[in-house]
Amino acid sequence: MTAAPTDPAPLDLALAPALRGLRFDDAFVSALPGDPEPRNYRRQVVGAAYSRVLPTPVAAPRLLAWVPEVASLLGLPDDPAARDALTPVLAGNALLPGMAPYAACYGGHQFGNWANQLGDGRAITLGELEAPGGASYELQLKGAGPTPYSRTADGRAVLRSSIRELLQSEAMHHLGVPTTRALSLIGTGEPVLRDMFYDGRARHEPGAVVCRVAPSFLRFGNFEILAARQDLDLLERLVDHTVTRLFPELGPPGRDATLALLAEIARRTAVMVAHWMRVGFVHGVMNTDNMSVLGLTIDYGPYGFLDVYDPDWTPNTTDAGGRRYRFANQPQIALWNLVRFANALYPLIGEAAPLEEALSAYASTFAVTHEAMMADKLGLVAFDPDRDVALAQDLDRLLRRVETDMTIFHRQLAAVPTAPDAADAALLAPLADAFYETSRPADHDEALLDWLRRWGARVRADGRPDAERVAAMNRANPRFVLRNYLAQEAIDLAEAGDPSRILELLDLMRRPYDEQPGRERFAARRPEWARHKAGCSALSCSS
Ligand code: AMP
Ligand code: MG
Repeated sequence: MTAAPTDPAPLDLALAPALRGLRFDDAFVSALPGDPEPRNYRRQVVGAAYSRVLPTPVAAPRLLAWVPEVASLLGLPDDPAARDALTPVLAGNALLPGMAPYAACYGGHQFGNWANQLGDGRAITLGELEAPGGASYELQLKGAGPTPYSRTADGRAVLRSSIRELLQSEAMHHLGVPTTRALSLIGTGEPVLRDMFYDGRARHEPGAVVCRVAPSFLRFGNFEILAARQDLDLLERLVDHTVTRLFPELGPPGRDATLALLAEIARRTAVMVAHWMRVGFVHGVMNTDNMSVLGLTIDYGPYGFLDVYDPDWTPNTTDAGGRRYRFANQPQIALWNLVRFANALYPLIGEAAPLEEALSAYASTFAVTHEAMMADKLGLVAFDPDRDVALAQDLDRLLRRVETDMTIFHRQLAAVPTAPDAADAALLAPLADAFYETSRPADHDEALLDWLRRWGARVRADGRPDAERVAAMNRANPRFVLRNYLAQEAIDLAEAGDPSRILELLDLMRRPYDEQPGRERFAARRPEWARHKAGCSALSCSS
């Protein structure tokens, strides 16, 4: 292994003329004050929204995955020569002209407690790229080396968590869930020391860098830290910049726009969480530093998908005691986080009532969106609370009684006959693959049949043609989700030197609502071997 240079080099554009057209406007660093200290050492950073910091180059960068649709979103050339030329940039070994790398300063409430300064401890934004069509995107390297915010950690990321972030952010996008995106995955050729289960058995793992992409990575915590430090001038400037840059439709910055901003963030957060509930996603670490002001799913760490439908499940071993971030608690936690965000804005508004009014957008949006999604999942034209609350609650009870696969059950429900004279066996047959236990209590099938008949009658009452209903259900209930064990299989292969499964899963998850004949295995129940295997059912924050 050759020693890596200490600073990234300017990229020689003679080697990559196609990259000459890329423009970075770096609005964030231009608009807001940065940390005057140029040296990169761990510290508290006050009076600044960010610190300028360069990525730390790595020894032997290798491009393991590239996402062409994100490249085209960014207006990047997508030929092998351009990819080769960009690889050092995506590894943190080189910079393009105009890039002004920085790490953002933010705080956060972690597991319900104020944690003070956190910040981008291993994420470095390279720059804000002007993309085709007038959009602008932050290119952010995760795992690019230490920053002033790294505290006691190393600023690096391991291959396993980088694969999980890349795959899942792309999968979520194609599932229709608001999310950050990922452009590339680089193997660094450098080992990273990690104690995966905090049990004193640290081991070296391969290191990696993901380039993630979003219009902004601003979190609730960027505002909270300024309010906590009573830096009200900078707080106001950050709010105004957020409005001007990311929410221009809210009008000129000022008191009204600040309140409208809170309402809009509340609304977007509600839509995002409703989608999580629709597809069975558990974020795992809904701390306020992991809540995007754009209402995007952000910071993929110990997240997971429900295989067995269990509203109390959390994938995060760090959260196993209190289960604060369990599946069913997510809508409530999102609101709790929004209240922290509203508190941070309070000094700019000076009274609680208008902030509470703005926050009410959360509950109203969540209720409407969640009901509409439940209606779609159940194949109903519209959710009618008088009839459908009981129908949905009874289904919830049924799914909890025996181990039932959430994704398979909902997908297959579309194939259950709704005719009044359908035989018991015909009703149950489409759902056969959804159950984890081969022997179920005798009365379970009876209760299920009873529910299926009620559901069939409810669907018939809508009078919608079957083909139309089935198509609508199949647009709401994915056939494929990125099951934890599928990601883990890709990780095991990649750690053994074969990254091909990453690309296969990326491709699979491009069309999660399609049947995709030949790929049945990826739609199957979680196999028994994965029930308790690390990475497949439980994950730690260690990444
Ligand atoms: P997370 O739990 O990943 O949201 O991270 C919480 C905080 O810890 C953030 O400030 C991260 O930047 C920081 N952090 C997590 N992992 C590392 C690491 N390996 N090196 C430096 N900082 C880290
Ligand atoms: Mg985070």
